Amino acid sequence: MTQFRTRITHFSNTIFDGSYVEKSQCIFTLIALTLGCFAILLSFTLLLTDAASNINRQGYVELLEISSVCSLYSLILTMIGNFIKDRESRWYAHVCVFSYVMVNVFILFYIGVYSMGTGIALAGAPIIGLILFDRRLIFTSLGSGLLIFIAFNVFMLTNNLEYAPIVQNQAEPYRDPIWLMTMLTFVSGHLGLLVFIGHTSISRWKEREAQVTFLSTTDPLTHLSNRRHLMEHYQQEYQRAIRQQSPLSIFLVDLDHFKQVNDTFGHLSGDEALKVAAWTLKDTLRETDLVGRYGGEEFLVILPDTDGRAAIQVADRFRRALQANAIELPDGQRLTITASIGLNTSIPKSLTDLDHFLASADKALYQAKNNGRNQVTIAVENEQAA
Ligand code: GH3
Ligand code: MG
Ligand code: MG
Repeated sequence: MTQFRTRITHFSNTIFDGSYVEKSQCIFTLIALTLGCFAILLSFTLLLTDAASNINRQGYVELLEISSVCSLYSLILTMIGNFIKDRESRWYAHVCVFSYVMVNVFILFYIGVYSMGTGIALAGAPIIGLILFDRRLIFTSLGSGLLIFIAFNVFMLTNNLEYAPIVQNQAEPYRDPIWLMTMLTFVSGHLGLLVFIGHTSISRWKEREAQVTFLSTTDPLTHLSNRRHLMEHYQQEYQRAIRQQSPLSIFLVDLDHFKQVNDTFGHLSGDEALKVAAWTLKDTLRETDLVGRYGGEEFLVILPDTDGRAAIQVADRFRRALQANAIELPDGQRLTITASIGLNTSIPKSLTDLDHFLASADKALYQAKNNGRNQVTIAVENEQAA
């Protein structure tokens, strides 16, 4: 069962990500199979219904012949693909797509060009084609198919061509159970492919969108928000605090003597230390708090609905936790890092103060460094508020 599922996944990945030749081969394998089953079904139908029955045997025999030949042709075309060296060969894809259109045009002619089968094939095939191949290739084949379709109409209009040769009772074709079964087999094949391609491409599109969102908002090393995402949050929280007149606190963290850490233990160990600092910071915060990587070894923390006193506690809890947890390096050495923190708090009044609020936290951080590092310093303008 798992092996079967792996094969299906591989097959569907090839349809979407394979080379032009591989994609064409996958589609034609499906067509060979569908037409093969279709031909077998028609043979049984003809064998099991007696000659005197109500169906147009001549039409069914012709359709059986066409389906068998097309199934064999599709199989041969698929096998020829194995010998093509240029895996992005346009002409092979052209031959396949064009053949697909022609096979469909002839089968639809026998079933009836104004039927549900034609509707689904006409609407579905270009969509599938445009998802998998480039538009020039699809439009040229589609154009030829449409020309033949129009020609059928003209011939039918001028009484030179019979409509749906397999249908005995033209006025009420659905009274013929065999026609109905033939039609449903044709429709389910196309509908199945359409639903499969549609569902898979939408799932893949959603997956990629989630991936793009993750990559554009996340710092690859620490998996915290990156600076752009963080600044968006900062602005949103600042605006919310203005609206609700609630306290907002932020603090900037800068790891101490980090250049020295890199110089002594190497950049990889430095990276490890950065990750540990990020996790420690995340562990210290509540669900509603936001943290992101502001710069190289600097982090910004946004604490909504938090006054200065509570913010200092959070910042100091982090500072102490970082200092207490020695980082075990792969070579067995232990590394302890510390951080300096600049904090600011306010009940914001206007959006124009947004940059100044952050700049004051930065100034406080500078102060913490000057005062000997490994400490939390609050911005001068808010010392009393805290
Ligand atoms: P201070 O205590 O004054 O902050 O000293 P410092 O050495 O931390 O300050 P400085 O800003 O001079 O150096 C920051 C260092 O952080 C320099 C840079 O190599 C290192 N750094 C920045 N980003 C990364 C990173 O992604 N990985 C590693 N390993 N190091 C980084
Ligand atoms: Mg720095
Ligand atoms: Mg530093």
